[in-house]
Amino acid sequence: MTSSRPEAVLAALAAGILGEAYDPAVPGRMLDILGRTASRRDRDQLLGLLRALDTRAGALLLTGRPAPLSGASAAAAEAVVQRWAKGLAPQRRLAAALGPLALLAAYAWPGPARDATGYPGPLGPAPDVPRRLAPLRPEGDQELTCDVVVVGSGAGGGVAAAELARAGLDVVVLEKGGYLAERDFSHQEGDAYRDLYLYAMTLTTDDLACRIVAGSALGGGTVVNYSTSFATPPAVLAEWAATSGVEAFVSGEVEAALEAVAARLGVTQDQSRPGARDRLLERGLARLGWHAGPLPRNVRGCPQDAGCGWCAFGCRTGAKQSTMVTYLEEAAAAGARLVVGADARRVLVAGGRAVGVEARTASGHRLVVRARAVVAAAGAVETPALLLRSGLGGQVGHHLRLHPGTAAMGVFDEPVRWWEGTLQARWSAQLRDRLGPYAPVFETVPVHPGLAAAALPWRSAADHRALMRRSANLSLVGVLCRDSGAGRVRVDRDGSPRVRWRLNAADEARMAEGVAAAGEVLAAAGASEVFSLHRRRLAFRPGDPAAHRAWAEATRRAGFGGGRVTLVSYHQMGSCRIGTDPSTSAVGPDHQTHELAGLYVADASLFPTASGVNPMLSVMALAHRAARLLAARLARR
Ligand SMILES: Cc1cc2nc3c(=O)[nH]c(=O)nc-3n(C[C@H](O)[C@H](O)[C@H](O)COP(=O)(O)OP(=O)(O)OC[C@H]3O[C@@H](n4cnc5c(N)ncnc54)[C@H](O)[C@@H]3O)c2cc1C
Repeated sequence: MTSSRPEAVLAALAAGILGEAYDPAVPGRMLDILGRTASRRDRDQLLGLLRALDTRAGALLLTGRPAPLSGASAAAAEAVVQRWAKGLAPQRRLAAALGPLALLAAYAWPGPARDATGYPGPLGPAPDVPRRLAPLRPEGDQELTCDVVVVGSGAGGGVAAAELARAGLDVVVLEKGGYLAERDFSHQEGDAYRDLYLYAMTLTTDDLACRIVAGSALGGGTVVNYSTSFATPPAVLAEWAATSGVEAFVSGEVEAALEAVAARLGVTQDQSRPGARDRLLERGLARLGWHAGPLPRNVRGCPQDAGCGWCAFGCRTGAKQSTMVTYLEEAAAAGARLVVGADARRVLVAGGRAVGVEARTASGHRLVVRARAVVAAAGAVETPALLLRSGLGGQVGHHLRLHPGTAAMGVFDEPVRWWEGTLQARWSAQLRDRLGPYAPVFETVPVHPGLAAAALPWRSAADHRALMRRSANLSLVGVLCRDSGAGRVRVDRDGSPRVRWRLNAADEARMAEGVAAAGEVLAAAGASEVFSLHRRRLAFRPGDPAAHRAWAEATRRAGFGGGRVTLVSYHQMGSCRIGTDPSTSAVGPDHQTHELAGLYVADASLFPTASGVNPMLSVMALAHRAARLLAARLARR
């Protein structure tokens, strides 16, 4: 039974997209995920189109046939989605929005689709260990007063809160996500995206070409991330100093902060035992004679076993040194108050200074926090959104970088089970020799069925299902690109973020080289077939160098922008960048916004350009510096 017109249309479409993998629970889940979309305008527009598809006129316009879609057979709905994928821009948008949604809803939870992949689901129950934090969840309207209010509790906010509290300041941390500790990590993929990820993973660039993935919970991205812990490379620090005019990048100050945070997190290369995915990456690289290195990780006592692959849904052993189990515990011990379910809507201003934050609580109430200073650390999408909602302009929201990632996929005779094993253990910077500092690097990522289903190109229900049934034998070489082009964060009428970002020609060319080389690595590792994530099927069988060359050329010609290939961003940066010049930066060298005194930024928004390596430690180091400068300033007043 379906309960609404949009749900009935979603049911028909899901049956078309999934075929035999269809499960009646899928349309309801699709609606639930849709309800978590950041922008009300986008959500309402899509729901409006779904309603229109259930009218004769709307169906005629959107499908070419005057038959309400809810009555369509699975085969007819499948044909509609196939036509949309090759149709005009609005139709391609529908396919790009609804295809991954149906696939995620089917594969990220138990059911016939997921069961057929051989995926075991969560490995047992969560441990029965006590929660170590007791965050506030205000009921009713409330007002708090403190020295510093920190918005966001991730890599930046967590470090800033601890350093400020340690300096004796009264700190309140506002986190819009919830608090989930080891005992709460169900490891059910779909539930994890809903409970631990920003907008339940629905955020994309405005052209739907690149999915934007970020954490949203107490601890932010550090709770779900893959634990790779690179210091900012010296060449990047030099570039940042030159771009921003901020001496601290090369004076040793940021380097000292990097060392301090790495020491606190126990960053080590001794707990990077590769799982099957990374062993294949390493094998392919070794056979080609290419660079391969162990990844430094922020873990203490990591089991590095099969179960580690679920750590992207929260680490049950507490080995991953997220801010939740490090800096936020220290902040709380030093008296900081942590508030969860508190969505900061605007910065309060009086006498030309930031004097606090107004937030909306999970129960829909108003929370006002009055403070001597405000630290924005809501991540590189939400920090500019908060500042724009608060009336700031200038360079706020400009210069956004995404580190767009794609991959080459390999089919192997032996099972790989790409969902299991140490989160990330090996990488390669081989292409830097040829392409310079903006070369893509290679890393793998844990791939659970929901993510796989949404990322693998859909051409027909049967084709996609067949691919998913082979997914235990797939592996990937991820191609993580350092983007030189910039996007922009704006806010919608309802204050939600909108992200405009396009792949520029130089980045696209480097991505093409990266994918070509990643295909070579998989071939050398022993894959029987290699393919890209293009909407069109582009594959080759290793053995004949000419086949690889033809494939590489075909992927280059097919292009990587505008939704032609699956792109995912795990690293958003640069949207309130630091610098001495207000015409090219949003935040001054002391981390205070150029426009509003008392408002500081301490997260990935600060980066002058993309970090080129996984950004967590760079974020933490800058937050460390921001907090030290702010604490010293408040102590003097
Ligand atoms: C799946 C995944 C894997 C990753 N793997 C790695 C890795 O291995 N190594 C690495 O270096 N980096 C990795 N990253 C990236 C890294 O985690 C981020 O770059 C880093 O966490 C960014 O820090 P931040 O402080 O800017 O934002 P975040 O850590 O994202 O924290 C921002 C917090 O602010 C909260 N917030 C947002 N808006 C508001 C609001 N209005 N009010 C209150 N709170 C708000 C959010 O809920 C969130 O908790 C990964 C990211 C993801 C998503």
